[in-house]
This record gives sequence, C-alpha cells and structure tokens, in this order.
Amino acid sequence: MKCPQCDTELDPQGLCPHCGLDVSGSDWVVIATVNPPDDALLESLIKSFGIPVQLIKPLGSVFGLAVGPLGEVKVAVPEAFAARTEQLLQAEMEGSESDL
Ligand SMILES: [Zn+2]
Repeated sequence: MKCPQCDTELDPQGLCPHCGLDVSGSDWVVIATVNPPDDALLESLIKSFGIPVQLIKPLGSVFGLAVGPLGEVKVAVPEAFAARTEQLLQAEMEGSESDL
C-alpha cells in the first residue's frame, strides 16, 4: 500500500515513514452506494489498486432479503484515499467503456 500524499510505501501498520500520515487512524468515508453484486466487483477493483476497502452492508442482507434500498451496500475507503480511489475508479470506468 502506498501513501496517498507522497507515494512512499507504507509500513505494515499503515504509517508513512516519509510524511507521517497514519492511514490506519484515518476516518472511513463512503465513496459509493451500490447494489450486489456490484459491491463485490468494486471491492476487488479497489483492492487491486492497493487501497483498503470496507463494505457496509444493510441488516436486511443478513436474512437473505436484500431487495431494493435495503440491499444497498456502502463502499468505504480511508478518508486519505477517497480522492485517489474516485480518480482510479473513474479512469477504470472510462477504460472499460472504450473496450466495448
Ligand atoms: Zn506520505
């Protein structure tokens, strides 16, 4: 994982040895709200960027009744990575459009 501020490789605790940014202490922000199976796609995509990701699932999905708004999953990344993740996702969307 690399520092979103200075691109230095972070140490295993998520701390940047260069600028001191602490990713593990960062707040998580929701960057997208999607319906399954897009949540799994986004999760693997964001992980492929080397960015930590968390899926916040609604209680409804626990019972296998994930329909409509109850089935929506929030995709969250550390605040320090939010802008970069959105840029990368946008580039990814544009890239896959031109492949069609
Ligand atoms: Zn840094």
